Amino acid sequence: MEMEMEKLSGRGSKQSAAPTTLMKAALTGSVCLCLALLIAVIAVSQKTTNEEFCLSSECIEAAGSILNKMDLSAQPCEDFYKYACGGWLQENPIPEDSSSYGIYPWLRQNVDLKLKELLEQPTTNSDIEAVKKAKVLYRSCMNETALELLDAKPLLKELRKREFRWPVLGNVLGADVQWDEEKFDLLHTLAQIRTQHSKSVLVRLYVSPDDKNSQRYIIKLDQASLVLSREDYITNTTEAQANREALLRLMVDVPVMLGAPEEAAEQQMKPVLDFEMKLAQIMIPFENRTSESMYNKYSLSKLQRTIPEFNWLSFVKASIDSKLYPDLSISSSEHTIVRVPQYMKDLFKLLNVTDTRTVANYVVWRSVLSRITTLSRRFLYRYLDFARVTTGTTSLTPRWDKCVNYIEGTLMYATGRLFVDKHFQEDKKHMMEELIEGIRWAFIDMLEKENDWMDAETKKKAIQKAHAVLAKVGYPEFILNDTYINEDIKRLSFSEKDYFGNVMQTLRFISQADIGWLRKNVPRTEWFTNPTTVNAFYSSSTNQIRFPAGELQKPFFWGLDYPRSLSYGAIGVIVGHELTHGFDNNGRKYDKDGNLDQWWSNASIASFNDKTQCMIDQYNTYHWKEAGLNVRGKRTLAENIADNGGMREAFRAYRRWIDKERSGVEEPLLPGVGLSNNQLFFLSYAQVRCNSYRPEAARDQIVSGAHSPPKYRVIGAMSNYEEFRKAFNCPETSLMNRGAESCRVW
Ligand SMILES: [Zn+2]
Repeated sequence: MEMEMEKLSGRGSKQSAAPTTLMKAALTGSVCLCLALLIAVIAVSQKTTNEEFCLSSECIEAAGSILNKMDLSAQPCEDFYKYACGGWLQENPIPEDSSSYGIYPWLRQNVDLKLKELLEQPTTNSDIEAVKKAKVLYRSCMNETALELLDAKPLLKELRKREFRWPVLGNVLGADVQWDEEKFDLLHTLAQIRTQHSKSVLVRLYVSPDDKNSQRYIIKLDQASLVLSREDYITNTTEAQANREALLRLMVDVPVMLGAPEEAAEQQMKPVLDFEMKLAQIMIPFENRTSESMYNKYSLSKLQRTIPEFNWLSFVKASIDSKLYPDLSISSSEHTIVRVPQYMKDLFKLLNVTDTRTVANYVVWRSVLSRITTLSRRFLYRYLDFARVTTGTTSLTPRWDKCVNYIEGTLMYATGRLFVDKHFQEDKKHMMEELIEGIRWAFIDMLEKENDWMDAETKKKAIQKAHAVLAKVGYPEFILNDTYINEDIKRLSFSEKDYFGNVMQTLRFISQADIGWLRKNVPRTEWFTNPTTVNAFYSSSTNQIRFPAGELQKPFFWGLDYPRSLSYGAIGVIVGHELTHGFDNNGRKYDKDGNLDQWWSNASIASFNDKTQCMIDQYNTYHWKEAGLNVRGKRTLAENIADNGGMREAFRAYRRWIDKERSGVEEPLLPGVGLSNNQLFFLSYAQVRCNSYRPEAARDQIVSGAHSPPKYRVIGAMSNYEEFRKAFNCPETSLMNRGAESCRVW
């Protein structure tokens, strides 16, 4: 290991041995200086040289962590991703229970371990009610003895309810609880699946801000998801066929495990898969789901006239728990946004020509599928066999991790509170403020000084929008209010012995949460993000950028004791990324108040489309070996715009910080790394992206993901950026220097 270090410091010696300005001045002027003065000058300059390295324990730790991830045999100008991440990828195989693994999942795991420790603490009198409930819920999830004892019983009980009777089960649960075509009511079943299981099948109903009136909430109707990706149903690649086969086997096995005769299961579930394949055909693909095309305002009566096959008013009413919201009345004049009118029309045409039994088998199947991972081990292992094909995972997630993730996602304010109390340092907010303001400044400064394609009027509005972006950091304030978080879940009451029952309670609770917003004003300055989320967000309707506590950790957020280059390169670029989402191909359509409204001139839109076409073409050329597929430039455009813009903004903000806060004097360097601060900035960006994928997950990332693969998030943005090639001295012939071919939007 010492050899390695030697080689490293050797490489770095180029920078550290370079004469400082002071030294140069001293040498030039030495002829006419007296000896004493010369000695003094040398002494000062040597002191400066010593100060060029930061030797604190934090810097040494950072240096080690950075070096460990690198592959120094790779050429930074040819493949910066390999150079930055090669070492980490080599030493971190994908865990058996994951389909991909990287720095993000690593940090996620880290947060999970902290939550595990907190949730496993015995309940004490000082715990607030919400925390007590979270601990009971966790223990019920960990109670595998009870789960094994109950086996399929809790689900079978659910399937006895009239609305959830499953044709494929025949008379397995008793002749009196058989599915009956005469009594089957699709509308009622769909509404009950939504209210009781918080699951959308065929039609998705939800409440969110009105895109053209961001102050108000409105009901939206959308297509619901499929089990596999749309691609798996509409193409015939080997992978798609394998996934469909695995799905069909699961669709047959699950009813058999619940007692159905094998023959009936096979005979009835094959048409169900065929039905889902036809559904995939009528679904609107991601690329065509633009904000304008999805904004179709219909009163329920107009919708009824347009698509008369379904009683829309009844469906909306049945989706609302009237006991919970007795004052919420819905009439046929209620406005809704129909996101995909063509899909809705086609859906009811398809339903008309499909056997009722098949439709019933499908909708209940979707609900059953969501529930089997709440059951005993034999169901978990059966699901794993399916996941083996579709995701490449070969073992179950450890029970504690599954439970932590469930509690964290369900009671997020209680778990968020536990996490924040113990693991969040308030001073992080100050440094975030510095980063956010620096990056906002950089975005605006580039818009004013370097943007030559946007007209003055549009530019003015863009600057106003950038100023109006509201940053939320850490956690929503209300989670510190005991009364608030206790009240929020006061209806929930858990039992340590009834995990399934607890889950059903939480699902009913979650299913009504968005409904409660209807008729209220949008609290545009508030946020409701889970504090333990390891991710960051932009919200177009509130024009907010959000950075939950989970994201504000190393190696994303480095504290004040580490070089700023590391933070600007990682969390700084992420701040820029989120801010730039407000100006990507979708976010740009929303004005500073979060309303979908054309505030751009037509000429500027045309220029924007030219600029973005360059990026579409660029990313289309990337062939990702792991997936055996090319990146989809159009699909990933918004994220690529955000990555490219975020990097420029953060770098500019970093240089301004050096100028303003350090009077232009570079930060001390990290020992043994041998890289300049600008180089560290780029390395820090790349290293948060280190991630490996199983082939199944890689393919899924390409066909269903919004982001480019990590490798191309690094290479794509950096090879477009002149400051990167300057920092690493990349010749025009190198892959990491696109030169005149470089694409730039912001
Ligand atoms: Zn993004």
